[in-house]
Amino acid sequence: MSDTPLRLACDAMCGGLARWLRLIGYDTFYREGVADQELIDIARTQNRVVITSDGKLLERRLFTTGRLQAVDLPRGLKLLEQVEYVARALHLTVGTARCTRCNGELVPVSRAEVGDEVPARSLIWAKKFFRCADCGHVFWEGTHWRHIAAVRERIANLQWDEPR
Ligand SMILES: [Zn+2]
Repeated sequence: MSDTPLRLACDAMCGGLARWLRLIGYDTFYREGVADQELIDIARTQNRVVITSDGKLLERRLFTTGRLQAVDLPRGLKLLEQVEYVARALHLTVGTARCTRCNGELVPVSRAEVGDEVPARSLIWAKKFFRCADCGHVFWEGTHWRHIAAVRERIANLQWDEPR
C-alpha cells in the first residue's frame, strides 16, 4: 500500500472534507448523495480508503475483516479538525492540489491562456493559474489561497511518531 499513492473516498456527509483533501493533493472520491453500497464498490474497485463517521457502515464485514481500509472519523469535529484527523490517521503528506470540483488533475497554465476566464483584478494579482484536466475549470492562487496555503503548511508540518 505504501508503493502506490494513497487514494481516498469520502462518504456522502463529508463533502467539505473531500474538498480539503483534494486541496492538499489527494485523489479523493466524493459525490453528493452517494449511496453507501456505491461508495464501497468504488473504494473496492479503485483501492481507496473510506472516510466516514457512519458507525453502521464500518460494521460491514469488508471493514471488520480489514479487506477494506477506513478512517473512523469522530463526529463533532470542525472541518479543519477533520482534515488534521485524517492527515494524522493516514500520515498524509502535502502534494499538488487537485480540482476541488471534480478531483481532476490541475495543470499550470499561463496568464494569457486564461485571460477571458479570470476576473480582471485576479488576473493582475494572482501569480499562478491552473486548469483542471477533467472539467476545465480555472483556478488561481488569489486572496483565498493564503488560507489554503496556511492549512497546507500546517498539515505538512504535522509530526508522525512512526512511518505509515
Ligand atoms: Zn475539475
